[in-house]
Amino acid sequence: TFEYAPAPESRDLANLRPSYQMFVDGKFVDGTGRPLKTVNPATEEVLAEVATASPDDVDLAVRAARRAYDRVWGRMPGAERGKYLFRIARLIQERSRELAVLESLDNGKPIKEARDTDVPTAAAHFFHHAGWADKLDYAGYGPEPRPLGVAAQVIPWNFPLLMLAWKIAPALACGNTVVLKPAETTPLTALVFADICRQAELPPGVVNILPGAGDIGAALVAHPDVDKVAFTGSTEVGKEITRTLAGTGRRLTLELGGKAANIVFDDAPLDQAVEGIVNGIFFNQGHVCCAGSRLLVQESVAEELLAKLHTRIATLRVGDPLDKNTDVGAINSREQLDKIVELSDAGDAEGAQRWTSPCPLPDRGLFFAPTVFSEVQQSMRIAKEEIFGPVLSVLTFRTPDEAVAKANNTPYGLSAGVWTEKGSRILWAAQRLRAGVVWANTFNRFDPTAPFGGYRESGFGREGGRAGLEAYLDV
Ligand code: NAD
Repeated sequence: TFEYAPAPESRDLANLRPSYQMFVDGKFVDGTGRPLKTVNPATEEVLAEVATASPDDVDLAVRAARRAYDRVWGRMPGAERGKYLFRIARLIQERSRELAVLESLDNGKPIKEARDTDVPTAAAHFFHHAGWADKLDYAGYGPEPRPLGVAAQVIPWNFPLLMLAWKIAPALACGNTVVLKPAETTPLTALVFADICRQAELPPGVVNILPGAGDIGAALVAHPDVDKVAFTGSTEVGKEITRTLAGTGRRLTLELGGKAANIVFDDAPLDQAVEGIVNGIFFNQGHVCCAGSRLLVQESVAEELLAKLHTRIATLRVGDPLDKNTDVGAINSREQLDKIVELSDAGDAEGAQRWTSPCPLPDRGLFFAPTVFSEVQQSMRIAKEEIFGPVLSVLTFRTPDEAVAKANNTPYGLSAGVWTEKGSRILWAAQRLRAGVVWANTFNRFDPTAPFGGYRESGFGREGGRAGLEAYLDV
């Protein structure tokens, strides 16, 4: 272990305040729910107290969104809406340092990831969708694409600002208004985003942000005046929401869990593959729905690849999320850490071979050392269940057909990776893998132009690209 003391100036850089209000109808207000305390997972110290919504507040927010839709946003020409989105995108860039530090404090992710991925990709989503706003009328959606109305959006804690951007940018571009509930452990950047909406002079009620726990998410998606629900989170809650909305005729898109296969063929450039595998499972502590959590490696290169992987992983620095050199930050909550420990212990009990990185860990806070399980069988829990942490399960295969069969042997279908020198093999595998995204010789690449979403129990609907707009339009 090493002694861990976060730099005191980080609170100033993040413009951290002792308390935060929720955002309804263009105003910051106290909620009537019981305030929650959000915690820095790297120290387990309280960062701030955050107002939360009650079901009454949900009703107020949905009414505000409805008024804004009927009177202003739903009627505004696309070119005008686009100007607001461009303004929001620029403000995210202007406040990028504050957002990155705050995201790292509240979530535990390494500052270099918040700085280089979360915040710029969130801005890119607003720029991209700003460009769509005035082009929808002649982009091939039929003679008169129409927004749906009020969108209820519920997001998880792993990419708080980025998931918000994936939800809000397309909704607004298409002319919908929004009530969004951030995750209970990571509400802060959503509230700074609310301040950005205020700065951009977005008409009141177009965006409403309601912090709260799962019960508020449930009240929001069940509200009778909501036209569309977009949810990102666990498959379990996704199924519950599906049941709530059954028979209501309301539109729904779901982005749920995953157990992605990262497939390495014997002709793959192994050193490059090692980098992709490491990124695939240790990026954001493995709190990634599309994480490459199952490594499928061809038997003839398995030993060599595993040795290279161990060497590389041993160099990863785990610790202070605000240190620019940190590769793996803190686990977001104690609950999540317990889940990672439980599943890893199941890996031991079921006979897999555990390897733990020898890296030192901080003396306090929620941390878990990068871990690799080899000799994993498909029947083991660590091969089947989403761990959502820095734990890689390694399985082997002999033939390409076996690789694809093992990759598809999961109820999920969000993403997959293929590593090979042969272009024909990439195309062959991509056609057979039941996954919404297939990366070739890379992993975890995101771009607003590329639709992202799942098959099967990973959900339905797409976010990003032209396909992503369809979730927020009627023709
Ligand atoms: P979760 O489902 O517990 O929570 C997600 C959000 O839903 C939170 O805001 C939570 O408060 C809310 N919620 C909880 N119960 C609810 C209910 N009954 N009705 C409405 N809302 C409710 O998931 P989590 O543990 O926060 O997030 C991790 C999960 O999210 C993982 O399974 C991961 O794979 C998935 N995820 C998927 C994607 C994707 O794009 N497919 C992206 C990120 C995370």
